[in-house]
Amino acid sequence: MPADIQEVLFTQEEMAHRIMALARSIVRDYAGKDVVVVGVLKGAFIFMSDLTRAIAEEGMPSVQIDFVRAASYGAASVSSGNVSVDMCGEPEGRWAGRHVLLVEDIIDSGNTLKRLVGAVEACGAESVRVVAMLDKKGRRQVNFEADYVGFEIPDQFIVGMGLDFNETYRCLPYVAALKPEAYGGKH
Ligand code: 5GP
Ligand code: MG
Repeated sequence: MPADIQEVLFTQEEMAHRIMALARSIVRDYAGKDVVVVGVLKGAFIFMSDLTRAIAEEGMPSVQIDFVRAASYGAASVSSGNVSVDMCGEPEGRWAGRHVLLVEDIIDSGNTLKRLVGAVEACGAESVRVVAMLDKKGRRQVNFEADYVGFEIPDQFIVGMGLDFNETYRCLPYVAALKPEAYGGKH
């Protein structure tokens, strides 16, 4: 384990198990619908990859895949509250009349997803739902609830399963808390 890691919160096996359960709920809820799964780069890439393969295994192999970028955190680990949304080159009408499932790594203040859901709704989507791998409910600055959540967690700085600290540790195959001294104790 890297020296900056304080503890493993969820192992690879625990994540796989939870992701399979999320996929089952999603497949049940969207039965018969035309779904486009939209991942929020970069952080959601591992969760999205695991989740969409689980969704296919659970009987819904026809989902389509898109990405958006939302940047609210710079090199410092603090949310600015100013979220910019980038549709990664998709044409404006791409999600009109479609059922959009946004996939996010973690919810903190809620600003990113509130903005993103608004942006996708403005594209004329038939429905917009959110699945988040992790949720720090205690950190909300705006009212926001995801439709599906992997695990609710306390206020710690998380890395692994796509989540980074200054672009490192994204590829750790588990969810871990960073030592507060590694990031200065403030986020
Ligand atoms: P929000 O807009 O909800 O405050 O922030 C959401 C974004 O902040 C997430 O997509 C993620 O990029 C980043 N973020 C929030 N908490 C953490 C964390 O504990 N670790 C990492 N690596 N990123 C986080
Ligand atoms: Mg993110």
